[in-house]
Amino acid sequence: MRTGAAADKRANALHNPVTLHVVCQLTLLRSLYGGRERYLNAHVSQGGWPVLVLNADFRPLSYYPLSLWSWQDAIKAVFLDRVNIVEHYDRAVRSPSFEIQLPSVVSLKSFVKPTTHPAFTRFNVFLRDRFVCQYCSANDDLTFDHIIPRSKGGQTTWENVVAACSPCNLRKGNLTPQQARMFPRQFPFAPTVHQLHRNGRLFPPNYLHDSWLDYLYWDTELDP
Ligand SMILES: [Zn+2]
Repeated sequence: MRTGAAADKRANALHNPVTLHVVCQLTLLRSLYGGRERYLNAHVSQGGWPVLVLNADFRPLSYYPLSLWSWQDAIKAVFLDRVNIVEHYDRAVRSPSFEIQLPSVVSLKSFVKPTTHPAFTRFNVFLRDRFVCQYCSANDDLTFDHIIPRSKGGQTTWENVVAACSPCNLRKGNLTPQQARMFPRQFPFAPTVHQLHRNGRLFPPNYLHDSWLDYLYWDTELDP
């Protein structure tokens, strides 16, 4: 049976400034605008040990970018009773009064309703268009093109913006598709989360810990 002393020790640990020192390192998408980096992973620094964050239903909170926290943020969330630890790294952090194994996967205790309509962002436009120019299929030097140019009243919307390489963008200039005789490969549309997930699977993260795999791919569509 645990003694009062052990309980005290545990309580002290909760307030240990070393353990609770949090470096908020949010995910940072790599080289989105250069078009060369073919990975969608988050950059996690602070000594590594990124933690995969699952929703309360054990699906990743987000796929693209993959929901990752620094281990510092994850441990803070454990102490705040917001997450359960699902998997561990084979590594511990210690303070004078406390030791905890670094979590590699955590799950939220309360369910967060996933977004159904992806945000209209540069990244998501690239993802919808699979990181290729919609005019020549180049995957390098990507930027954006307004199909109907802004100078002709074209809006910055899902339906009027496509990924395009710089040379195509330059060539098309302020012309309409008819004038330039340049038509996008697919008619641009507002994608669903499912469509973005499907595209995102073509670009696997550049860092995947073994303990994450069960939670990343169980809901992929099965081959017939
Ligand atoms: Zn092009």
